[in-house]
Amino acid sequence: MAGGTDFLNRMKLRLIEPAFVMNIGRLRNMDGIDIGNTETVIGANTRLKEIAGAPLINKRFRAIAEAAFQVASPTITNMATVGGNLLQNTRCRYYDQSGMVLNGLERCHKRGGTVCLAVKGSKRCFSVYQGDLAPALIAFEARCVLEKKGSTRTVP
Ligand SMILES: Cc1cc2nc3c(=O)[nH]c(=O)nc-3n(C[C@H](O)[C@H](O)[C@H](O)COP(=O)(O)OP(=O)(O)OC[C@H]3O[C@@H](n4cnc5c(N)ncnc54)[C@H](O)[C@@H]3O)c2cc1C
Ligand code: SF4
Repeated sequence: MAGGTDFLNRMKLRLIEPAFVMNIGRLRNMDGIDIGNTETVIGANTRLKEIAGAPLINKRFRAIAEAAFQVASPTITNMATVGGNLLQNTRCRYYDQSGMVLNGLERCHKRGGTVCLAVKGSKRCFSVYQGDLAPALIAFEARCVLEKKGSTRTVP
């Protein structure tokens, strides 16, 4: 987890029960905004509050600053990171519930079952992505640098 605002909720609801959790939110080499002449780099751990308040982001990429500002409330944006915002889980009212509520419901695709409770008869999950930052980043043709075990790749 980074800010934990998406991840910890899912743990509290017992939707996920990981054997261990690594908190990457304090890795300082992954945060900060670096504004150059040809390229602007936003580290994955940069808090949404910092993006919303950065004068140069507001000047050059206003929609990104506005999107970061619109997310939830200051309590959330103080903790939430851009990496976590992009990679947050999809939401569905038949899924994001406590065990008490879910116990009365048939298991849907997202819970390892075979039905979709939102779209009857569907053979797949219809829960859609709802992150606020991605549309603004797409509009500015942003790219993500993904790193895994020493190798990197860049995706739109
Ligand atoms: C009350 C409430 C309201 C919300 N409202 C909004 C809203 O209006 N708009 C909106 O867009 N979102 C909203 N959210 C969703 C979410 O909390 C935020 O979007 C937030 O930006 C997630 O960032 P985080 O750092 O807290 O993510 P985390 O909870 O830390 O992580 C989310 C996911 O991303 C993964 N992840 C995080 N960082 C990385 C990384 N660097 N590399 C690889 N994987 C990573 C984690 O493994 C996890 O699966 C809301 C959440 C709450 C609780
Ligand atoms: S399978 Fe259907 S009910 Fe379950 S989370 Fe996806 S959209 Fe919602």
